[in-house]
Amino acid sequence: MDSITPNEIDIVRASSSKINEIDFENLAFGNIFTDHMLMCDFRDGKWQKPTIKPYEPFLLDPSAKVFHYGQAIFEGMKAYKDESDDVWLFRPDENFRRFNASAKRMAMPEVPEDIFLGGLHEILKIEKEWVRKGKGNTLYIRPFMIAIGTGVIAAPSTQYRFMIILSPAKSYYSGEVKVIIAEHFSRAANGGIGAAKAAGNYSAQFYPTKLANDKGFQQIIWTDDATHTKLEEAGTMNVFFRINDTLFTAPTSERILDGVTRKSIISLAEREGIDIQVRSVLVAELVEAAKNGSLKEIFGAGTAAVVNPIVGFSYQDEYFELPKIENSVALKLKDKLTNIQYKLEEDTFGWTVKI
Ligand SMILES: *Cc1c(COP(=O)(O)O)cnc(C)c1O
Repeated sequence: MDSITPNEIDIVRASSSKINEIDFENLAFGNIFTDHMLMCDFRDGKWQKPTIKPYEPFLLDPSAKVFHYGQAIFEGMKAYKDESDDVWLFRPDENFRRFNASAKRMAMPEVPEDIFLGGLHEILKIEKEWVRKGKGNTLYIRPFMIAIGTGVIAAPSTQYRFMIILSPAKSYYSGEVKVIIAEHFSRAANGGIGAAKAAGNYSAQFYPTKLANDKGFQQIIWTDDATHTKLEEAGTMNVFFRINDTLFTAPTSERILDGVTRKSIISLAEREGIDIQVRSVLVAELVEAAKNGSLKEIFGAGTAAVVNPIVGFSYQDEYFELPKIENSVALKLKDKLTNIQYKLEEDTFGWTVKI
């Protein structure tokens, strides 16, 4: 990777740090940000010099296109600290590649590697104290890009802002997750933007998820928009099903986001000799497996929670509770994956990158 050297990046240090005011043991996810942020604007057809500066609000014109047309994308990744105080990223090249795939789909300029990955390395060097040691402590990384060009004409912006902000996080436990299988609403459609981490995909989920919450369910398992017969994702995570001793997850597509956690779990499961099949699972198969007792586990997979076990699902107003099991494949894979991330086990895949 071509790293940005500090003379290619303007660095303005915060006059003091907030770090001593932070209660690292009681962090709500994504609410606290570190002392600095990275900012880089695109204008006149090119990326300008990036700046790392104190975290602070900024002004935008009310007609900026992000407000009207939602031209906005993001990524979610994490930094981890090992026992020798070294800071590590997990498969950052995957996030970089996916960010630019999202940019392309949203008619936004691609961000060069030296700004995205080089800039990330630089800001993490400055903020390394914010990455706490110990399994479960992470620094959540949120790169994003917004259209800042002005004018309410519905056309792509000519000006953009790329940013990286950082938020310390504890491992995220969302309690017992019950889900509803979608019969009407859809997260994504063929030809749409479901494979991009585009902001609008998430706001479009809020209302159906709120309806599910009102019925006592935390998340929705999304199905294919055309027939609602195939299981696709769980909330904002990829989803895995264990029937007897086989794990299933849907292939990625225009409707299913290519998650880094998903692909890492597939590789780990293969290495561990777990039978894993990448194919669509039908709602009917899941209901049948729940009825005959062969359905053992359902779990979501994504950077924020790593693995999120699901305890039951509702379909056509019937609720199916999953059995309590001893040897959870979800928890075994989560443990293997986090051991690699925290450098507690050898990274035979070459997934970890040192800052
Ligand atoms: C980000 C995201 C995921 C998970 O991707 P990771 O790279 O594992 O964090 C899955 N589904 C959707 C819709 C997402 O936005």
